[in-house]
Amino acid sequence: HAKAAGGGVYAGYRPQMRDGLIERLELESDLRGALERGELRLHYQPTVDLATHEVVGFEALVRWPHPTRGMINPLDFIPIAEATGLIVPLGRWVLHEACRQAVEWSRAAGGRPLKMSVNVSVRQFDQPDLAETVAAVLADTGMAADLLCLEMTESVLMTDTEANLEQLVRLKALGLTLAIDDFGTGYSSLAYLRRFPVDTLKIDRSFVERLGVLADDTALTDTIVRLGKSLGMATVAEGIEEFGQLAALREMGCSYAQGYYFSRPVPAAEAGRLFMEGAPV
Ligand code: C2E
Ligand code: MG
Ligand code: MG
Ligand code: MG
Repeated sequence: HAKAAGGGVYAGYRPQMRDGLIERLELESDLRGALERGELRLHYQPTVDLATHEVVGFEALVRWPHPTRGMINPLDFIPIAEATGLIVPLGRWVLHEACRQAVEWSRAAGGRPLKMSVNVSVRQFDQPDLAETVAAVLADTGMAADLLCLEMTESVLMTDTEANLEQLVRLKALGLTLAIDDFGTGYSSLAYLRRFPVDTLKIDRSFVERLGVLADDTALTDTIVRLGKSLGMATVAEGIEEFGQLAALREMGCSYAQGYYFSRPVPAAEAGRLFMEGAPV
């Protein structure tokens, strides 16, 4: 069959596979260059207090404006960065830029505290000096540790559990907060949740999306909020798009939310204005 299609090449070969590989190599070298030239950007999505609709902070989300391919979605280049190790310098840049920006906005707003959340890849936990890197960024930018939140997925809890637990304890010792991102989509056990020094659960968008539509999802979301409460953790709902979802989550006692209903992730200038205005969104 392979012979009929291409002639003389190994079975299972398809031209798209080669194109895919070339495209990947090209993207990888482009990404390396973009990082070195400082071409990556951060967009910021507000985190809103569900009781007051006030913007309490932002999540930093990386963007890659590619010269010929247009804006590349992080879901399309973070995996490449992870596979090549580029995620380490990239992650350090994101952290530094997000903290620098948070301090700048907070100062401009007369010292009003601003919480900044930064996504940390499971690959960054392979770096034994992760906590030192974070400490250096805090010192260099003047960011208060208790205003920084690091978001990680459940995979951090489930892979290299002992080593990562140690990393999390060292990060916690810096005084920052830790959140589990996309909570409910992974396989972390409740026992792990208690063992790890986690402060916040971010309820995955897939649950929020079906709130009020599927009774099971509503029950699951309610359960996650209660779980957070009983463990003394804050809950943040991701991906609120409609008023009904907001109302349901507020009813459940969820503390914070993000989503297009309030604001999409926006470029720095716009996010700065949102924060300065200090008005409910
Ligand atoms: P995440 O951390 O779970 O971020 C939430 C994603 O959901 C963002 O996508 C955001 O734009 C999107 N979103 C927010 N509200 C809504 C909504 O109401 N509806 C819908 N449909 N989507 C919403 P984005 O910016 O494309 O980022 C995707 C993922 O890429 C992030 O998921 C995160 O896992 C990863 N990522 C982004 N920036 C970084 C980074 O600096 N470092 C690392 N390691 N990963 C990052
Ligand atoms: Mg996140
Ligand atoms: Mg998330
Ligand atoms: Mg998510």
